[in-house]
Amino acid sequence: MKLKCISCSREYPIDEMIYYCKSCNDLLEVVYDTSEFEKKASSSDWRRLPLSVWRYHPFLPFKDGATRIALNEGGTGLHKCERLAAFLGLKTIHIKNEGENPTGSFKDRGMTVGVSKALELGVSWVICASTGNTSASLAAYAARAGLKRIVLIPSGKVAYGKLAQAMMCGAQVVQVKGNFDEALEMVMDLAERYKDVYLLNSVNPFRLEGQKTLAFEVCEQLGHVPDWIVVPVGNAGNISAIWKGLQESKSLGYISKLPRMVGVQAAGAAPIAEAFEKGSSEIKFIEKPETIATAIRIGAPQSWKKALKAIHESNGLATKVTDEEILSAQGSMAKLEGIFVEPASATPVAAAKNLIRNGTIKKDDEVVCVATGHGLKDPDVITKFFEKPIEVEADIKALEHILGLS
Ligand SMILES: *Cc1c(COP(=O)(O)O)cnc(C)c1O
Ligand SMILES: [Zn+2]
Repeated sequence: MKLKCISCSREYPIDEMIYYCKSCNDLLEVVYDTSEFEKKASSSDWRRLPLSVWRYHPFLPFKDGATRIALNEGGTGLHKCERLAAFLGLKTIHIKNEGENPTGSFKDRGMTVGVSKALELGVSWVICASTGNTSASLAAYAARAGLKRIVLIPSGKVAYGKLAQAMMCGAQVVQVKGNFDEALEMVMDLAERYKDVYLLNSVNPFRLEGQKTLAFEVCEQLGHVPDWIVVPVGNAGNISAIWKGLQESKSLGYISKLPRMVGVQAAGAAPIAEAFEKGSSEIKFIEKPETIATAIRIGAPQSWKKALKAIHESNGLATKVTDEEILSAQGSMAKLEGIFVEPASATPVAAAKNLIRNGTIKKDDEVVCVATGHGLKDPDVITKFFEKPIEVEADIKALEHILGLS
C-alpha cells in the first residue's frame, strides 16, 4: 500500500502527510497490490457484514484493528424506478440514493475514512473548503472523533441546510468573500503551513478510498454491472473514486466487465464537459461558475485529470445540463418516485433524459444514476422555483370548492 503520483508515478509512504507530488505537484492516489487485497480479503469475514463502507475494510487503507470513526455510512438504497423509467423511455433505471447517508450526502463515505486517517496521523485539526456537504460531513465526523474542525465556505453561496449542519456540529465556519475555488486555495495554503492541520477536501486521496465503496455496493446490489453509471461532477473526486472502485473490483475478479461512466456538470460550471466535447486532454477553468446546483458550482475542478481518465478509459462521456433541466429532473424524481434530492443530484437524470433522446443511451440499457445528496439540504430552491401551497379559509365548503368536490 502506498501513495502514488497520478502523473509522474513517484511513490510516497502511505503514512506521509502529503496531498500533492513533490516532483510535479499533481494529485496522489492510494495504490495496492492485488495480492495485498486478496490476502486481507481471504482472512476476513467481510462478505458476512451488512452493506456499508466498512464492509469493504479489506480494500481500505487501514491496518486491522485501526480506530474507525463511523456513523453508519454507505449501504444506501439502490432503488428500481419504474415510473421514472417509463417517463424517460427506458426499460429500467436505478437510483443510488446517497441522501440516505448519516449527514445526507455521499461525502460521508469519504469522511469516515478521511477522519479515521486524521486520527491515526495524530493531528488536532481537520479543515476543508466546501460548497456545503463536505463541511456538514467533516463537522459531524470530526465531532465524533473529538477533533477540532474548521470549514471555509463561499459567502452566501451555500445551501442553508448544509450550513446549519456544520454549525450545529461545532465547526468553526468561516465565510470567504470569494467562490469555492478561492476558498480551496486558502485551506490548501493553511494545510501547507501548519502540520497539525489535516486537509479533507477531495484532493485528499483517502477520502476517495471511502467513496470508491459506492461502486462495490452498486454491483453487489444489482447482482451485475450496469451499462452506465451517471454521476454529478463538481470537483470531480467522486467520479474518479467510483471508477477506481470499479477497476479494483474487476482486478479482483468480482466483476467481469466495466460500465461506461457519464460525468454531468451544470451548464454554467462545465469545464470538464467542455474539454470532453472539444476532445481536449487539457481543461480551461471557468472564472465565475454559476448554477442553482450549488454543490457543483465549481470552476476549477481539482480532480479533472482523474475524471477525464475515468471517462475515456470507460468509453463514457461528459455532458452538461441547464438549470431548467436540473429543476425539471428534480421535480420528476420526487413526483414519480418519492426521491427528493438536491439540485446537483438531479443532474444525472436530466442528462440521461437528453442522452436517451439523442440515442446515446438505448432503451434496453441498464442505467444507474447516483443521487449524491438529500433534497432537504436546500429548501430555498424549492420555495423559490416550485409551486407554493394553496391557502383556504377554515371552512369545509371552501375546502371542497378548492379540491373540485363541489
Ligand atoms: C460534492 C457533491 C457533488 C460533487 O462531487 P465531486 O466529487 O466534487 O465531483 C455532487 N453532488 C453533491 C450533492 C455533492 O455534495
Ligand atoms: Zn508527480
